[in-house]
Parts: sequence; structure tokens; C-alpha cells
Amino acid sequence: MKSVCVYCGSNEGRLPVYAEAARGLGRALVERGLGLVYGGASVGIMGVLADTVLGLGGRVTGVMPESIVRKEVAHRGLTELHVTSSMHERKMRMAELSDAFVALPGGIGTLEEVFEAWTWAQLGLHAKPCGLLNVAGYYDGLIAFLDHTVAERFVKEANRSMLIVSDDPSDLLDRFACYRAPAVEKWIRNGET
Ligand code: AMP
Repeated sequence: MKSVCVYCGSNEGRLPVYAEAARGLGRALVERGLGLVYGGASVGIMGVLADTVLGLGGRVTGVMPESIVRKEVAHRGLTELHVTSSMHERKMRMAELSDAFVALPGGIGTLEEVFEAWTWAQLGLHAKPCGLLNVAGYYDGLIAFLDHTVAERFVKEANRSMLIVSDDPSDLLDRFACYRAPAVEKWIRNGET
């Protein structure tokens, strides 16, 4: 693993613990010599994360579509900033540049991005690990719902387990390092779980 893609809020959220978690993940990446790939913004916990990694001498690659470079306030001090022509190209580029995907707390954009990376994993389009950093129980409700999707037999347990959940960045990165994508088909046949 060389680079980790982190999806996270372009806002800071209600509690200081969210920005603190972004700093913790940034430190854990630099300690392991891992580069950060993210959306390229200077705002929200996205900005906190990038500033932490840069401040510790780490590598940060931002990827942002032209249309939101101004709106989202692109970070001007990154190791590299890729400007793409569309949101789809942005997400594809972020995925290509990364060996793993993590979501810190965030809003709709964060959810969409991590779900896309996970659903590509489920289809076998890549074999890279995906995870949630469940800071202060932020994702508890979502995790309960995901377990419900398994109980209702729309998702296989093996596919549900592909999304690794932890409240600790070092634990999450350790689990990424030994991740092996399961060889399962996503479709549930009679009697399977
Ligand atoms: P948010 O979690 O909504 O604060 O957004 C976090 C990041 O996701 C930002 O870099 C947004 O540009 C990005 N984003 C927002 N909406 C979408 C979307 N529909 N698809 C992909 N990325 C998005």
C-alpha cells in the first residue's frame, strides 16, 4: 500500500472531535509513509487532514473538478493538484491513484464516494480495501442500517464485511495492510447468506 484515498466532509461538523480524528488519521498515514489522495479542498475536515499531512512532511495529492475549484476553495499548497473536467473523472482518478479508501465523517459527498468505492469492490472491479473511521459513533446509525441490508438479504455478509469499520486510524490501516478481497459473487442464490 502506497497511497490512501480519504473521503471526508467539506464542513467541520458540530464537534471538535471530527477535526481531531482527521489530524489523527493524517498522523497515522505519515507514520506509515503512506501518501494521501483526497478531494483537494482547503475547507472543512478535508483541509484539516491535508494540512496535517503536509505539516508532517507527507505527500498530498488533491483531485478536483474544474467546476468546483473556486467554489470549494482548492488547497494551494498540495504536493500535487489534479484538475479534472468532471466529477466522474475526479472519482475515477482518485480511485486509480489510491490503494485503499477511507471515509472520515462527512456529508452526502463523502457517503456517495465511499459507497462507490465499496460497490466497485463488491463487483470485483478492484481488490482494494474500503473502510469507515467511525469517529465518536458518527456512523453507528449507518452501520446498523447496513446490517439490516444483510438481514433482509439484499447484501451478502461477505460483501458487508468488505467495508472495514474502526474507531482508530492505526487499527484501520493495520487491517487494510492484511486485507484480502473475498472471492464471492454479489448475487444471493436460494438458501445462501
Ligand atoms: P461532503 O461530504 O458533502 O461535505 O462532500 C465531501 C466531498 O465530496 C467534497 O469534495 C465534494 O466535492 C464531494 N462531493 C459532493 N457531492 C458529490 C457527489 N455527488 N459525487 C461525488 N463527490 C461529491
